[in-house]
Amino acid sequence: MLIKKELFSMLPSVDEVLGNENIVKALEKYPRKLVLDSIRESIDIKRKCIINLSEDSINNFSIKLEDIIEDSLERIRINYSLSLKKVINATGTVIHTNLGRSLLSESIKEELWDLSSRYSNLEYDLEKGERGSRYNHLRQMIKKLTNAEDVLVVNNNAAAVLLVLSTMAKGKETIVSRGELVEVGGSFRIPNIMELSGTKLVEIGSTNKTNLNDYKNAINEDTKVIMKVHTSNYKILGFTECVDIESLSKLGKEYDIPVIEDLGSGVFIDLSKYGLSYEPTVLDSIKNGADIVTFSGDKMLGGPQAGIIVGKKKYIDKMKQNQLTRALRVDKLTICALEATLRMYLDEEKAVENIPTLKMLTYNMQDLEEKALALFNKIDKLNLDINMSIEDGFSQVGGGSMPIEVIKSKVIAITPNKINVSTLEKGLRLSESHIIARIYDNKYILDVRTIFEDEFDVIANELENALI
Ligand SMILES: *Cc1c(COP(=O)(O)O)cnc(C)c1O
Repeated sequence: MLIKKELFSMLPSVDEVLGNENIVKALEKYPRKLVLDSIRESIDIKRKCIINLSEDSINNFSIKLEDIIEDSLERIRINYSLSLKKVINATGTVIHTNLGRSLLSESIKEELWDLSSRYSNLEYDLEKGERGSRYNHLRQMIKKLTNAEDVLVVNNNAAAVLLVLSTMAKGKETIVSRGELVEVGGSFRIPNIMELSGTKLVEIGSTNKTNLNDYKNAINEDTKVIMKVHTSNYKILGFTECVDIESLSKLGKEYDIPVIEDLGSGVFIDLSKYGLSYEPTVLDSIKNGADIVTFSGDKMLGGPQAGIIVGKKKYIDKMKQNQLTRALRVDKLTICALEATLRMYLDEEKAVENIPTLKMLTYNMQDLEEKALALFNKIDKLNLDINMSIEDGFSQVGGGSMPIEVIKSKVIAITPNKINVSTLEKGLRLSESHIIARIYDNKYILDVRTIFEDEFDVIANELENALI
């Protein structure tokens, strides 16, 4: 009969574990401190197990050096891995804010690496041989695509709205329709950001109806901005009325008050020709008279996180003088990724083919059926203990865009025979490949719209592992 004291004395020392050849190899690759900490963790866990042992299980408890070494190696690997990890998005939601919104195109990876691993002309004017501005890099490209007078790019669209209002209406009034005071997820609320900018919010109309007279009646000598928010993440249906940007800009001109529009998800291409519902394009907004338009870089545009401000030069010049701009500025990686993404828009067909967000949103049914069949066959070959079928499903645009729009898709629906569907979901989520999928109607649903073909094998293998 063993006693706990004897078990404790059987625990290896850190030095003993360090002597193992695999651990020695690990020391070549990983920092010594991390290796030592991981070994200590591993021994500590065993020690805690001993403490918690009941009297009758003491004799069955074993301490093997190999187990501790293996556990240490696993811990070393996990402790060294980055917190921000690649996942497989099988949810079908294309612009998934929790999963990183838009994906960059593979075609720009060399440019991104070249730019970020060497010095650049980020704030240097090569012609003049003197200091330049980081904001010049995106200017020509965005002007070309939007016909706007000028451009300024900041950290994200929330920052863009903050900067615009802080510059144009701080201490004064901004008129906005009640129906447009939206919350944009992650508890970012338009009214809160407006307040933060120091402008006084003048809410007009009712939740479902606002007309031009409501705007007109609210104008006084303190009015500095009329703001319109494209409520991309919710829709009021039925008895509704709002004022379009064209009428607002007429009103603005009449009273010499600039009209700004927060488009949320900016698009450059009218996606209705690809079967999606119409979203106002940035070009429309400018053409219809908006003085300033703001939108996100990583929603429907399909680029990196950024807030893009376009419009009249006189206002943008003032924004550049605002100290906030320094705090909200974008880094060179963003500038590079955004310019390279936007360049693809010079050829609309190429943009839809090469920008992952657009490509995934515009798959046709045949593409999806082929993808679903290919994934189905990969899984089917493994003869797993599951029920599986290809079914019709619905994807979402996501990112607060086109909220009530569901796009038809093809999904693989899996019901495991021996384990719970939620156990399967958890197993795959925590697997090395981190597969994120939905459960619907007690089935595990893989929507092929957002899954890459080179992820099919991985999914099949992880499914096999999870079912063992
Ligand atoms: C998404 C959104 C924002 C915030 O944009 P971020 O780029 O996430 O900061 C602001 N306004 C509207 C209308 C939006 O849809």
